[in-house]
Amino acid sequence: MLTLTCPYCGVAAEETELQPGGEAHLKRFGPGSSDAEFEAYLFARKNPKGVHFERWRHAYGCGKWFMAARDTATLQVFGTYSAQTPHPTPEIVAAVQAVRPDWQPDWTPATAETPAESLNA
Ligand SMILES: [Zn+2]
Repeated sequence: MLTLTCPYCGVAAEETELQPGGEAHLKRFGPGSSDAEFEAYLFARKNPKGVHFERWRHAYGCGKWFMAARDTATLQVFGTYSAQTPHPTPEIVAAVQAVRPDWQPDWTPATAETPAESLNA
């Protein structure tokens, strides 16, 4: 059974206490965006066999949404983090790369010189 630790209340919740919310970090495009961008936002999902970032809600606990990084093939959980995080944290990236050294993030990871606010632009 899948067990995820809620980053807000710290409870290690079983899958039955959680509500899945699909792929994490989807980019929503605003007014003036193209039909292709809107279609991609609505329908295009990665669905990988391997490292995946997902949204989950602690439905039978604190009720808050959070993100989880896990491997869809092995069901290994790399960690959970706040839903207000624009990209997985450096700790999550390090946990993934400790198991899968060949895996690379498809975004520019935050560094000490890159404040998180600049990633929201
Ligand atoms: Zn919780």
